[in-house]
Order: sequence, then structure tokens, then C-alpha cells
Amino acid sequence: MQYNAMKLIGLLGHPVGHSKSPLMHNIAFKQMGLPFTYAAFDVEPASLESAVKGLRALGFRGANVTIPHKVKVMEYIDKVDDEAKRIGAVNTIVNENGRLIGYNTDGIGYLQSLLEETGLSLASSKVLILGAGGATRAIAFALLGAGIEQLWITNRTIEKADQLAASLYASQKGTASIHALTYEQLPSVLSEASLLVNSTPVGMHPNVSDSPLTEADLSLLPNYAVVSDLIYNPKRTKLLSMAEKIGLQTHEGLGMFIHQGAYAFEYWTGAKAPTKQMRQVVQQALQNE
Ligand code: NAP
Repeated sequence: MQYNAMKLIGLLGHPVGHSKSPLMHNIAFKQMGLPFTYAAFDVEPASLESAVKGLRALGFRGANVTIPHKVKVMEYIDKVDDEAKRIGAVNTIVNENGRLIGYNTDGIGYLQSLLEETGLSLASSKVLILGAGGATRAIAFALLGAGIEQLWITNRTIEKADQLAASLYASQKGTASIHALTYEQLPSVLSEASLLVNSTPVGMHPNVSDSPLTEADLSLLPNYAVVSDLIYNPKRTKLLSMAEKIGLQTHEGLGMFIHQGAYAFEYWTGAKAPTKQMRQVVQQALQNE
């Protein structure tokens, strides 16, 4: 392979040392025999604009963008696709002949993983999400697009949940009811939720014995409810273990990570992503930590 045939993909984040994206994408490129290579760059917020100019100047094929740059990066690229605009964040950039186009693959990645792994029917369903940050915004749009009827958002800082609920309501295409709730109000809605999603970092490594809800809270859910956690390190959080113990179906965050990466891979390469190998390699790396 000629050096100049190599296409480059960068990850722009701060920090990036813990990221499994380089490993996952490089294995996927190799598996598909594609002349691409993926490297992570730790970019301080003050250097983001120069880093984006660098992608253009060096002819990178694209990039992933992660915390804390997903919102700010929209100012420095040439176009933001409609869905990413509605979500208000970009996690994938594609360089089309010098024009940088931004996409968001978090929401569709989550939805793909949820439907594939649980078989849940979302049309007319009632969903409760814990947390009101960037990930909630992305997955809420995807869930609303899939036809849910009711969305409740609970957050430690209730004002953020109020703002997010109002903004989602104003920009949704459908007619779902969307409400913000305090944690204290949860018992009044748990018995109606067919999907509960943890979109907070509570329970994430190294605080693996923490859970955003108690087993008593989970026992209020109907027996057909699915409990989903966006956290993928650990793969099985305390919340999911408790849900499983009382007989509820569970959904892990690893699938979202794999599928957001798979959609980005497809934008850059035009080839179908080898999701099975991507999942295997990330799972193995997490086990070895
Ligand atoms: P974010 O924008 O920082 O939002 C974090 C949310 O969690 C906020 O609503 C925050 O509440 C709440 N929170 C934080 N600490 C809390 C605590 N101790 N108790 C209760 N609530 C707390 O983060 P994000 O980007 O939305 O990410 C959320 C989670 O999703 C993270 O665990 C992240 O790793 C995971 N994630 C996974 C994937 C994947 O591919 N699987 C992708 C994206 C994100 P306040 O508003 O009160 O601060």
C-alpha cells in the first residue's frame, strides 16, 4: 500500500487516552481491507478551531468528536446535517473534498442497538430517561422519531430537565407528551414505563457499586419493562444487575458505542461496518482493564 493512499481519521476530545475508538476502528478498517488509519488527539478547548483547520489542511477523511467538543465544533465546520442540528451536537465529521460536514450518530446508534438487542416495540410506548445531558438529547430525538407516546426526563438539576423537555417538545416532529420530573416524583410514573434508560454516569467505572435507582424503585416497573444503561464500562452496571435479579429485561451500553462507531465508519468509508469484530475487540479490551 502506498503511503499517500492512506486515509486518516482523527478523534478530537479532551481527554482521549481512555477511548476505545482507535482500537475499534483500526480493527474494523483492517478487517475490511480498507486503507484507513484512526488516531486520537487530545485537543484542549482553546485549540479546537486550529485542530479542525488541521483536519482540512492535512486532508483527513474525517473525525470523531467527543467530550467536551461536541457542541463547540459546530462553529468550525462547513455544514451540520439536519439531525445533528436538531440534536445540537456533532460526533462525526466527514471531509467531502475540503468541506467538513458534521453528523450525530449517537442517537441512531442507540436506537439500532436497543431494537436489535431487545426487540422492544417503541411505537406508542412510555419512556423514562434519567439525566438531561448531551446523551439524553441525542437518544431522546431517536426515541421520539421511533414513535414513543410519552417521554419523562428526570434530572438531579431539575431546571436542566425542564429546559430539555421544552426544547424537545418544540422541535419534535410528532406529538409525544414530554415532561420533566424530579427523582421524588418517579414513583408516580415508574409503573407505566416500558423503557427506563440511565443516561447519567452513576455506576460508571470506578464507582461500580453506585446506582441511580434502588431495587425498590425498579420493582415498581411493569414486568415487561426494559432497563437500559448507556454506561459500557462496566459492561453490566449495578442498575442492570438489580433489574435482572428481579426478572426485568436489560440492555447494555456497549451496543450503542459499537453502533455509533459503525454509522461513522460507514460515513467515512461507504462500506458496511464489521460490527461483530468491533464488539469483540472492545469487549476484550474492557475485560483486560
Ligand atoms: P453529560 O452531558 O455530562 O450529562 C450528565 C448527566 O448526568 C447530567 O444530566 C447530570 O446531571 C447527570 N449526573 C451526573 N452525575 C450525577 C450524579 N452523581 N447523580 C445524578 N445525576 C448525575 O454526559 P452525557 O454525554 O449525557 O453522558 C451521560 C452518560 O452516557 C455517561 O455515563 C456516558 O458515559 C454515557 N454515554 C455512553 C455512550 C455510549 O456509546 N454507550 C455515548 C454517550 C454517552 P446535572 O445536570 O444535575 O449535572
